[in-house]
Amino acid sequence: MTTLIRRRDPQSPNETWRIYFGDVQAGTIAKRTEGPAGSPAWQWFCGFYPGSHPGEQTVGIARSYDEAREAFEAAWRVFLSNRSPRDFDEWREHHAFTAWKYAMWDARCRLPTQTPSGRSRCFCGAMIDLTTIVAHIRESHMRAANSSHPWARN
Ligand SMILES: [Zn+2]
Repeated sequence: MTTLIRRRDPQSPNETWRIYFGDVQAGTIAKRTEGPAGSPAWQWFCGFYPGSHPGEQTVGIARSYDEAREAFEAAWRVFLSNRSPRDFDEWREHHAFTAWKYAMWDARCRLPTQTPSGRSRCFCGAMIDLTTIVAHIRESHMRAANSSHPWARN
């Protein structure tokens, strides 16, 4: 059975944990930056999109990390009970496409939508155009995008 794991987000200035369910990000638990004295110190966000309907993600605040984690787990059980495998694939695909786009920008490659001919070269060297781009990312870059996910346990 897949369980939730957490990983610290090194880029966030305040203590932030990304919560993963397998290779899919299920949400976050984070220390709030500032608030009035005595206000809850933690906030959580549960759910992923795409792969769910708008409004199915839930948020909350809590006094402690443990309290936030408990509330998150309860929210996740509800979210998960309404998911199908297709929902997870939708998120994975969206995630892979986003990662691919960033990799293209990093490599200073132009997207087929940015060239007059509608053709371009992927950073991996393959020729792509508007009709082959989706299949190319699925076949060549989806596994790479997902395997680069942080897996370290804390
Ligand atoms: Zn490629």
